[in-house]
Amino acid sequence: MRETNWEEVSKMECVTKRVVCNKCGKEIGIIHNYGRVPHDVFQDYCQVDTHWDHHKEHNQKHADVESFDLCEDCYNELVKSFEMPVYKF
Ligand SMILES: [Zn+2]
Repeated sequence: MRETNWEEVSKMECVTKRVVCNKCGKEIGIIHNYGRVPHDVFQDYCQVDTHWDHHKEHNQKHADVESFDLCEDCYNELVKSFEMPVYKF
């Protein structure tokens, strides 16, 4: 059995304060007061987190997780260089 009650709870949350494009160094713009989100949000950008699960067996070049961010212009430039198109859905 659970006895519940509606209470206002405050909790710590990791909030991103600044995003910079890894390729060109441009700062990603902030959208203040976006919808009902209690913190600022960023303009669209590409966020990549790569998990190298088997790197220890085959390749020592990578950390377990590597990440980078790209502004929209750098993303578009990168995607144009692909031999195969990006999957869109
Ligand atoms: Zn960029």
